[in-house]
Amino acid sequence: MLIVMRHGATEAEVQRVVAVIQEMGYEARAMPGAQRTAVGIVGNDGRIDASRLEGLPGVQEVIQVTKPYKQVSREWKPEATVVRLAGGVAIGGTEIAVIAGPCSVESERQILDAARLVKDAGAAILRGGAWKPRSSPYSFQGLGKPALKMLAKARAETGVLICTEAMDAEGVAAIGDVADIIQIGARNMQNFSLLKAAGRAKKPVLLKRGMSATIEELLLSAEYLLAEGNHDVILCERGVRSFDTATRNLFDLTAIPVVHKLSHLPIIADPSHGTGLRDKVIPMARAAVAAGADGIMVEVHPNPEGALSDGAQSLFPEQFVQLMREARAIAEVIGRHVAEPALLGG
Ligand code: PEP
Ligand code: MN
Repeated sequence: MLIVMRHGATEAEVQRVVAVIQEMGYEARAMPGAQRTAVGIVGNDGRIDASRLEGLPGVQEVIQVTKPYKQVSREWKPEATVVRLAGGVAIGGTEIAVIAGPCSVESERQILDAARLVKDAGAAILRGGAWKPRSSPYSFQGLGKPALKMLAKARAETGVLICTEAMDAEGVAAIGDVADIIQIGARNMQNFSLLKAAGRAKKPVLLKRGMSATIEELLLSAEYLLAEGNHDVILCERGVRSFDTATRNLFDLTAIPVVHKLSHLPIIADPSHGTGLRDKVIPMARAAVAAGADGIMVEVHPNPEGALSDGAQSLFPEQFVQLMREARAIAEVIGRHVAEPALLGG
């Protein structure tokens, strides 16, 4: 439930509402907004009797949040969330962020080359896994901690921001010092202890849709992050399992406008994992921007043929340049623009 205060309601009136909610045995969260303050009730599972709150001074209306995910819902927060990163880069609003790089960090040379090519093409954020969730235990698992140092070096040398995946709470802590965005992968979308750890981290989180997760389940997983106090959450559509083997996954672009209607959180799209096929990545990246995605995540490798993971879906550097050019053109048509590389000080 959400208690919307009148424009100009006093701080004392807001505090009175908070106190009454606490007396009722729930947790209250005051959310000052540009126009008016709202007070949200968390920690309840069902409907609450609103009559005690409706009559309090300064209260304009009481809104029942009908969705099981509360803080993530548009009912709770009508205006779109913009996640702000270092150097003036933003995800959400009018900007479209491009997160690009190899599937895995393989060596210092490889990730530095990738960082340069990503930056030279005009993208703001470098991706690359230090720890990789692989279906087979015999596949390349990532370099682990040494890869974080390489990512830090790439950031320091080129100014690109870093997005990398955490697979457990320990990873969240280790990545927190290096990354600008902590990625939670599709296979871990419902790893609730990981979600709680990332929810306590003071870093933006990119949450990927599980390969057989409904949109409601994605939003409920995001709710774990917000419930722990982390409001800087970016969702990611990366395709779901289907009966059709023509592509690696069924890239569900409908999720973009559906999520925008249900939630205030930004959502980006990953056509690399969504299709699994290099020659399908550019067309589907274009489609994702046209569908209103707040960003795209793509795999690009300095030498895709030698990649240790996901080479078949990784773009060649010149293809990435083409993708950036086309994404910019489409963004302009719909009144948006592709976020520029960061201006990192120091
Ligand atoms: C990745 O981003 O490299 C990855 C493993 O993606 P997903 O979790 O979507 O499969
Ligand atoms: Mn990958």
